[in-house]
Amino acid sequence: MEKIRFSTEIWTGDAALQGLSNFSDQRVFVVTDPFMVKSGNIAAITDQLSEKNEIQIFSDIVPDPPITKITLGIEALNKFKATMIVAVGGGSAIDAAKAMKFFTQRIVKPQAEITFIAIPTTSGTGSEVTNFSVITNSEAGVKYPLVTDAILPQIAILDADLVKTAPQNITVDTGMDVLTHCLEAYVSINANDFSDALAEKAFQLVFENIERVSKDGSDITARQRMHNASCIAGMAFNLANLGLNHGIAHAAGAKLHIPHGRLNTILLPQIITYNADLARDPNNLTAQKYCNLARLIGLSASNPRIGIRSLTNTIIQLRRKLKMPDSFQSYGIKQELFEKFKVDIAEAALNDGTTAANPRKPTKEDVITILEESFTRN
Ligand code: NAD
Repeated sequence: MEKIRFSTEIWTGDAALQGLSNFSDQRVFVVTDPFMVKSGNIAAITDQLSEKNEIQIFSDIVPDPPITKITLGIEALNKFKATMIVAVGGGSAIDAAKAMKFFTQRIVKPQAEITFIAIPTTSGTGSEVTNFSVITNSEAGVKYPLVTDAILPQIAILDADLVKTAPQNITVDTGMDVLTHCLEAYVSINANDFSDALAEKAFQLVFENIERVSKDGSDITARQRMHNASCIAGMAFNLANLGLNHGIAHAAGAKLHIPHGRLNTILLPQIITYNADLARDPNNLTAQKYCNLARLIGLSASNPRIGIRSLTNTIIQLRRKLKMPDSFQSYGIKQELFEKFKVDIAEAALNDGTTAANPRKPTKEDVITILEESFTRN
C-alpha cells in the first residue's frame, strides 16, 4: 500500500503574507540570509506579525548551509525559547531552518512544539513542501540530505513579490533546478500517477515562463507561475524522490562550489541521454516518459530517438538563451581541480540518497563518464 499525503498548507495569491497577522503570543525565530534583511523582504514579513509576538532574526545563513551555522542557529533558537520558526529565503535558509527544528526536537528539547512556516524567495528548490534538507560539511566537502517528515513545514507561503529582487543569474539557476526536479521525479523508479501529474504540470509551467522571468524579473505573472511550478515540482519529488542528476550535483556542489541549479543544468543533457539508454532498448519506459514530456511542450517525438534528441537539444538551446554555462569548464572550473575531485565526486554521487531513485543504476565508471562529458562544451 502507498499512502499519499500533502501535509503542508499552501497560502498563495494576493495578500498571502497577511495570514501571518493571525498569530499572536508566539516567540518567532526568523531564519534567513543577510540579503533578505538588507532588501527589506524581512521587514515586509515581520510587519505582518502583530506586536503581541516576540521576534528574533537569525540572518547568518549562507548558500549551501554548513553544519556550523546550523549549530549556531540551534543554540540561538533554544536560548530565545522559540515557539515558531519562520524560514525566509532560498533553499539554503529553508533547509537550514528544517535542520535546526529537527535537531532541537530530537536532541535539545524533545517535547518542544514549534510551528514551522517556510516562505521561499527563490522559485527553485520546492523546499517549502518537501521532507528533505541538504546540509553541507564544508571541511569534508560533503553534502548530507536529511530526509524525514518531521521537517515538513506546516505552512508554505508563496508570494512572488518576494522573488522579484532575484537577479537574472539566480532566477535562471533556480528555475532550471525546478526543471530538473520535474525530469527526475517523472522518470524516478518511485514515480506514480500522482507524482507524474504534478511533474508534468510543473514542467509545462517552467517552459512557458522561464524565458519571460529571465528577460524581465518584474513580470509578476510569470514570477508567480514559476513560484507555483517550483512548489508543484517539490510536491512531485517529495512523492517520487529525484535521481542521479541531483546525486552528482550534491556531490560536485560540495567540492566545486557551483550554484546548485547551475550545476544541475550543466549535467541535464548527459543524464537524459544516459537514462534513456537507447542502445539497450529504444522503447524502454524511461525513454518513453522523456518522450511524453517532449510532446507536452510541443516537440517532435515520433520515435524515442527523435524524442530524446529534441528534448536534449531544446534544453541545450534553452540553456544558451538563458546565458548559462554549458560545461564545468565554461563555468570556470580548471581541469586540474576537476581531475583532483572527479573520482571522489563519482563515489559520493553513488552514495547520495537521491541516486537510489534513478531509473538506470549507475556504476562508478558511468558517473565518471558523465562528469567527463560534462566537463567540456556539449
Ligand atoms: P540559495 O538559498 O542558496 O540562495 C542563493 C542566493 O540567492 C543567496 O545569495 C541568496 O541571498 C540569494 N537570494 C535568495 N532569494 C533572493 C531574492 N529574492 N532576491 C535576491 N537574492 C536572493 O539558493 P536556492 O537555489 O534556492 O537553494 C539551494 C540550496 O537548496 C542548496 O543547498 C541545495 O542543495 C538545496 N536544495 C534543497 C532542496 C529541498 O528539497 N530541501 C531541493 C533542492 C535543493
